[in-house]
Amino acid sequence: MKHTLFLNPPSYEGFDGGAGSRYQARREIRSFWYPTWLAQPAAMVPGSRLIDAPPDGLTVEQVAPLARDYELAVLHTSTPSFPNDARFAARLKEENPRIEVGMVGAHVGVLPLQSLAGAPAVDWVALGEFDYTCAEIAAGKALPEVQGIAYRDSGQIRITGPRPTIENMDALPNVIEVYKRDLTIENYFIGYLQHPYVSLYTGRGCRSKCTFCLWPQTLGGHRYRVRSADSVEAEMAAAKKYFPQVREFFFDDDTFTDDLPRAEEIARRLGRLGIRWSCNAKANVPRKTLEILRANGLRLLLVGYESGNQQILNNIKKGTRIDIAREFTKNCRELGITIHGTFILGLPGETPETIRETIRFACDIEPETIQVSLAAPYPGTELYRQAQEQGWLQIQTGELVDTHGVQVAAISYPTLSSTLIFDSVEEFYRKFYFRPRKIFSLVGQMVRSPEVMKRRLREGVEFFRFLHERKQTPQASGAAVGSPAS
Ligand code: SF4
Repeated sequence: MKHTLFLNPPSYEGFDGGAGSRYQARREIRSFWYPTWLAQPAAMVPGSRLIDAPPDGLTVEQVAPLARDYELAVLHTSTPSFPNDARFAARLKEENPRIEVGMVGAHVGVLPLQSLAGAPAVDWVALGEFDYTCAEIAAGKALPEVQGIAYRDSGQIRITGPRPTIENMDALPNVIEVYKRDLTIENYFIGYLQHPYVSLYTGRGCRSKCTFCLWPQTLGGHRYRVRSADSVEAEMAAAKKYFPQVREFFFDDDTFTDDLPRAEEIARRLGRLGIRWSCNAKANVPRKTLEILRANGLRLLLVGYESGNQQILNNIKKGTRIDIAREFTKNCRELGITIHGTFILGLPGETPETIRETIRFACDIEPETIQVSLAAPYPGTELYRQAQEQGWLQIQTGELVDTHGVQVAAISYPTLSSTLIFDSVEEFYRKFYFRPRKIFSLVGQMVRSPEVMKRRLREGVEFFRFLHERKQTPQASGAAVGSPAS
């Protein structure tokens, strides 16, 4: 077995770009998802170590020398972080010229040849799901015999046959063993989740076909492949024991509610374990299911509303209806389920009027908290193909963040400039949060809990600093893009 290091490399300060982040960027407030995609193969390689540099605040100087102690390094990369990660791979080879370096993640899977050309220090990249790929390479299997990779062979690049999609999800070992061994739970924050939290998956893939969404179009696919309720229950029972300090568990499956009977069955088991939990959901979960989930420990749903305009939802193949989303949100409020709603500005069909409509919609349905993102055309998605064909791209491939790791407006339309889309994010936040009713509710929560007060004040400072910094960055034409400071 090769002595193996799994790495989320050092990056922009506060960059939530690890192997658990759906779109990689520095957030409005300090946020880090768990590197679950990387923890999974790490759990399959005995004696390995997982380093998640950004949440631990580790620098290149601190991490690179570790290469001397390892035979194989597996780096998780993404479209925005790729140039930085390629440089970091080179740095590992400077420290240890004999170390083998592999890269995994959606970006290298979609662009294997371009990735190997752009990262001369990398020996192989994985195509698609990479759990068994990493395990086999770490176990010493010769690269030509490993399915689902592109690798260097005497100056040539070769691609092996495709690796079948994983069907038996229960065969994958628990990631929480790796979390316990290698991660500092307290370093992971998500603004709308209680702290400390732990996130993990109970299945991969999403039945929906949203055109902008990266993972189902690259790694996960459009079938929801799931672990059995028995397996989930066993892992959660262990997690509860391992992490008594954790106040909330988050199921980061693309759409945990894609299989309603299973979601209800798992909820009942979590209820018996006395676990408080939250998950991703579409805005169409029936009230009966919501009641069962709520009665069994569900606290919060992370809901991708995306837009308040039905035509835009149709354009992106969201598969939801505005009237049903309203009804769902009302049901959640009545049942005491908190909602963090996410919205995207700049999707196909966007106009100044649809932006105003979406802001009105958000204020109207009133999720507890919101996140507003810019449409990000990732290679491998239908949105990217459309943007290329239609000439909407304002950037070179990959330039999705600025020199601070903050999202740039990557798309513009003949009737809507990228600058207007970019500026509308701040307008959205201001119109949503600076309403008397919202301010009153936030202040009320702070007054009731000194802990909430401390956290919200810190987040408030971070939020305004973020808005201020993002204003300093000129938008459009790729003018602002660049590399991480590290
Ligand atoms: S429902 Fe959510 S996870 Fe599924 S494809 Fe759409 S955006 Fe992606």
